[in-house]
Amino acid sequence: MPVTPTIIRFCHDIWCLSSPVQMVESDSKYFYVVTQVTPFHPVSHIWPDHPADKGTLNQYPVIDCQVGAVELSSGQLFVGCDIPVRRDEKGWVFVVVHCLEKSCTNLCVGQEVTLAVDKPYQQALGRGHSAGHMASLALNKVLVELGYWRKDAERKDPHGYCDFNSYAQLSSLVRKDQCVDTYRLGKTLRKRGLNSADLLNTLKKVEQEVNIQLSQWLMLKSEIKIKCCGDTLADSRYWQCDLGESGMAEIPCGGTHARSLEDYNEIRVTLTQLDEQNIEMYTHVLAI
Ligand SMILES: [Zn+2]
Repeated sequence: MPVTPTIIRFCHDIWCLSSPVQMVESDSKYFYVVTQVTPFHPVSHIWPDHPADKGTLNQYPVIDCQVGAVELSSGQLFVGCDIPVRRDEKGWVFVVVHCLEKSCTNLCVGQEVTLAVDKPYQQALGRGHSAGHMASLALNKVLVELGYWRKDAERKDPHGYCDFNSYAQLSSLVRKDQCVDTYRLGKTLRKRGLNSADLLNTLKKVEQEVNIQLSQWLMLKSEIKIKCCGDTLADSRYWQCDLGESGMAEIPCGGTHARSLEDYNEIRVTLTQLDEQNIEMYTHVLAI
């Protein structure tokens, strides 16, 4: 039987399910298990901002969860950074790879297994990730409204504001109820029209305004939706939330997320200057 793309269920409020095993393999580090369906969210090998889910497969702890790609002609599995192709490559399928202790070798292909995700951990990561999206949208808006852009930058965010986040973001790291983003205020951004020096001098004022905006948005209690354009890892997914702006916020995103703004008591950011041209936005969630 050829391996089929893993059917993903981590955007569907499903934390436990059973599924047949379609592939097992081991290397010096792990015993890898690929199932037909999974509720586990794997860490992305391209943009690893969102950690893998934790949980169990039968009685075994899932230590890590990665993206894998199987070459159908050879049946060979490539895991994480070893994947040599893009997600739309013909003759390949993308799968979720559950990484178990090397000693779990009594699992076999065709066997039905029970997969159970650590729900509180997944939900805490989801709140952190959605809060990161909200904070970056609030930062984009505040920088425009407080006049930090000398001219109109071409790239706009979903609300129509100059997309500082997209131009300047260096890294993003989701943790339980947290998200840390770093931004580079380089020469290119200044040429595009951002008053970087002003921003660095008045970082605390921007922080204050971003926090006000976030608390206003939370009062809307809007739903957060994940639009899935299919059932597999290779299909696009979008984070959606109506924040009462000019249009619905929609951001391409493969992560797991909060279900509603009602999941939050508070979202707060702290802006810190790291050096001459780098700033950090630390987003912190107080859950309900
Ligand atoms: Zn995201």
